Amino acid sequence: MAHINEHYRKLSAGYLFPEIARRSQAFLKSHPDRKLLKLGIGNTTEPITPSVIEGLHRGVEKLASPATYTGYGDEQGQEELRKALCDFYAARGVKLAIDEFFISDGAKPDSGNIQSIFGLDNIVAVQDPAYPVYVDSNVISGRTGAYDKASGRYEGIYYMPCNSENGFFPEVPDAKVDLIYLCSPNNPTGAVATREQLAAFIDYAIKNKAIIIYDASYAEYISEAALPKSIFEIEGAKKCAIEINSLSKFSGFTGVRLGWSIVPKELTVEGSEAGELNSLWNRRQCTFFNGASNIVQEGALAVFSPKGIEESNKLVAYYMENARIIREGLQSLGLTVFGGDNAPYLWLQTPGGMSSWDFFDKLIEETNVVGTPGSGFGPAGEGYFRLSAFGHRDDIIRAVESIKSNLKL
Ligand SMILES: *Cc1c(COP(=O)(O)O)cnc(C)c1O
Repeated sequence: MAHINEHYRKLSAGYLFPEIARRSQAFLKSHPDRKLLKLGIGNTTEPITPSVIEGLHRGVEKLASPATYTGYGDEQGQEELRKALCDFYAARGVKLAIDEFFISDGAKPDSGNIQSIFGLDNIVAVQDPAYPVYVDSNVISGRTGAYDKASGRYEGIYYMPCNSENGFFPEVPDAKVDLIYLCSPNNPTGAVATREQLAAFIDYAIKNKAIIIYDASYAEYISEAALPKSIFEIEGAKKCAIEINSLSKFSGFTGVRLGWSIVPKELTVEGSEAGELNSLWNRRQCTFFNGASNIVQEGALAVFSPKGIEESNKLVAYYMENARIIREGLQSLGLTVFGGDNAPYLWLQTPGGMSSWDFFDKLIEETNVVGTPGSGFGPAGEGYFRLSAFGHRDDIIRAVESIKSNLKL
């Protein structure tokens, strides 16, 4: 008799985005003359830049001739691309070896899969609120107990609340945990960890033989020079951290798909030798993954050319100008808003202590703007609201104007 993986039944219903869609549809049905202005999605909208498009074309052309055709490549990714990544990090003062990089099809798959190289009895710690895959992948693997609807938490997970008191970056755990997921710049809060904050986590991890899984998907959105773009900029991180990143938000590769994980050889856990975790991740990828698309890797190589980097930086600047427009619009109304300085997300404190979902209804009703209720990312997100800077400029301006003219405060 076959059985399903019972842990899937523990997952709290994927409630957030379906519920946003349901309420949006209901609103349009009762107000057929209105048009929604969307500041809700975390998806890129602007076209891929010319030199990267050229790279992608090159990738396609190579497949058309027997002299340049390639089939399966290295599971870890093309050596040339890993070398380009090495150089990209080296330019920031981070020295890594080529075989510490593993090219993949994105940061979300890597974030979900990485837990598989760790034992089931590891205690997982997550930021609250958080991007959902860190928790859900551990629920599915059986590292948690049941979901408790009242608290919005899974039994067995250590939640690290992120709120205005701690600048939306958590203190180190006051209990012993083993796998610590950190996302900086953060989705959904837009907060960025300082060097000191990361140093405290690295210190905790080394003392407790814990591992930090560091999602740096928005690293290129950091403009303040003092803020670290990679956890490996901080002393000791190679002993205790894995970094995950992708071209989704830097170069508009959300639909194209290319990411990477860095598993340093120095990394060790209880009872393992240096290099073993690197080998385990290699084994995992070779077993389950046949490498990223050769066309896409050609496009990624173009991203890491001087021209490609310059163009991608412009793409980021475009979204960050959107973020500025949203932030200044909200602040002009006297609203309290966090993030949006070094991340494409703004984290709005709902006015008058409204619940996240009540504010969703008020905002759509009065201004036709759709955002994302903070409570959907975890219980500590209650009373907050995420606005995304991903969008065409005209749409962003229209949404902000509508909030400024129509929101009743
Ligand atoms: C968008 C996003 C990613 C990117 O995932 P890809 O699979 O590379 O598209 C990863 N982590 C966070 C927190 C994100 O918001």
